[in-house]
Amino acid sequence: MDLSRYPLAELAGRIGTPFFLYDGEILAERLAELAAFSEGPRLHARYAMKANSARKVLERVREAGFWIDAVSGNEVLRAGRAGFPMGNEPPVVMLTCDVFRDNGLATVVEQGVLPNVGSPGQIRNLADAGYRGPIAMRVNPGFGHGHVQACDTGGPSSKHGIWHEDIADAVKLARAAGFPIVGLHAHVGTGPQIAEFDANMRRLANVFGDLLPLFPDVTAVNFGGGLPHPYRPGAPHIDLQGYRRFLLEAASMLSEIAGKALRVEIEPGRYPVAGMGLLVARVTDVKATRTNEKGEGHEFIMVDAGFNDLIRPAMYGSYHEISIVGAGAAREPATFVVAGPLCESGDVFTRDDQELLVPRALGRPDPGDLLVLHDTGAYGAAQSSNYVSMSRAPQVFWEHGKATLIARRETLGDILRAECDQAL
Ligand SMILES: *Cc1c(COP(=O)(O)O)cnc(C)c1O
Repeated sequence: MDLSRYPLAELAGRIGTPFFLYDGEILAERLAELAAFSEGPRLHARYAMKANSARKVLERVREAGFWIDAVSGNEVLRAGRAGFPMGNEPPVVMLTCDVFRDNGLATVVEQGVLPNVGSPGQIRNLADAGYRGPIAMRVNPGFGHGHVQACDTGGPSSKHGIWHEDIADAVKLARAAGFPIVGLHAHVGTGPQIAEFDANMRRLANVFGDLLPLFPDVTAVNFGGGLPHPYRPGAPHIDLQGYRRFLLEAASMLSEIAGKALRVEIEPGRYPVAGMGLLVARVTDVKATRTNEKGEGHEFIMVDAGFNDLIRPAMYGSYHEISIVGAGAAREPATFVVAGPLCESGDVFTRDDQELLVPRALGRPDPGDLLVLHDTGAYGAAQSSNYVSMSRAPQVFWEHGKATLIARRETLGDILRAECDQAL
């Protein structure tokens, strides 16, 4: 990616580091691709907004015609603030959560958005809360895989959804509660292996086919997320046209079984947003460790971003492309570990999912150079935290040569806002 398109040094001077930059033109390209992908009455894409719930992003998603998969009551309400209609005709916003907490249940009852239940207890929760309306049901089809072991989205070790053999009982429970089940859903995960993703979607179509006779009220079948994003240089892109063909075939096959025209949905989260994001950090130092006998050790590039800003490498060993902006960019590459400011040895951006360091070839930076972590538009700011009372980083939206601050750097006041001392 050509970083010279962005005035990173100037922005860093104005708002400090670290910060996120989102390229609105890349977002627009991805959304246009998805619009072509889901064109027509049979296919519909829901944006899984947990990947990036910035209002500006949600507005662009809405303008592009997509619906929403939300996973908390507050996500539903944020979608509403970004202009998505509430209610379930049509079910523009669906709430998929494993557990109702905080305002989740109340939001479903008050806003009338479609709840997608993933456990029998949630059917009881809805009935007890006085909900009267349609539901969707999330099935664990007995297989599936996320992008790493810690991210298990289907199969016996996954917590998500209702086990496929228990679906008939859950349907009875829903019927007794008077809930028409209008949606059948599964999310088996976004593996980096496109072949595996392909095979999983085919198996899923068959599981849906087997289950459909239990669901006379169903109008939509949802294949979940997501679409893989190519994080590594040279990684293959998913063949969207091929996936579209597959889903249209699945729509016909499943409509035939159901005896009526069904809508097929997918829920891309990372796909539209991952590639638009840069996390821009400042190099503060370069230092080395050495062992005595062999002189082995590592050279560390120290930066001011940490896993409080981007947790994916620390949590999953996820790979993010890294660039140096400044004097180091032109130098002969050497191998470096890139590490952040937190008091945790795992605060390292260059490691694998076995927690081993994987030094990266980079031009030797000078302190003061910028270091950019690529593809951080998904699950970057969205999973950032106030760990060690660090302020969450600002977010900048870049479009047509203009930068707009869409979230400022947090202050101590923001962090302390909910603290109180109140007798109960
Ligand atoms: C997270 C999630 C998605 C999106 O996953 P991505 O890998 O970001 O595309 C879709 N559906 C559900 C139910 C999810 O929880």
